[in-house]
Amino acid sequence: MMDSLTHLLHYPLYGGVVVWQAAAGVIVLLGTLKLLRRVLRRPAREHPFMGARTCPACGWRGQVSRFNEVCPRCARPFTA
Ligand SMILES: [Zn+2]
Repeated sequence: MMDSLTHLLHYPLYGGVVVWQAAAGVIVLLGTLKLLRRVLRRPAREHPFMGARTCPACGWRGQVSRFNEVCPRCARPFTA
């Protein structure tokens, strides 16, 4: 039983790679992909410098930079 398992793990694949090496490679690749996905997903959720705002003077609504403190329609300052 153990003999056949050991034999299977050392069964040569293409290019001289054995089964346990291929399995280890797949595990490392999946781990890297998981990590990359987690890193890439975070900044896509919400733009860090943009925010929804409503102008209290003219009622304009929209996405505007957080550094922009003036309404793009009536040029009056937003009250934060
Ligand atoms: Zn306005």
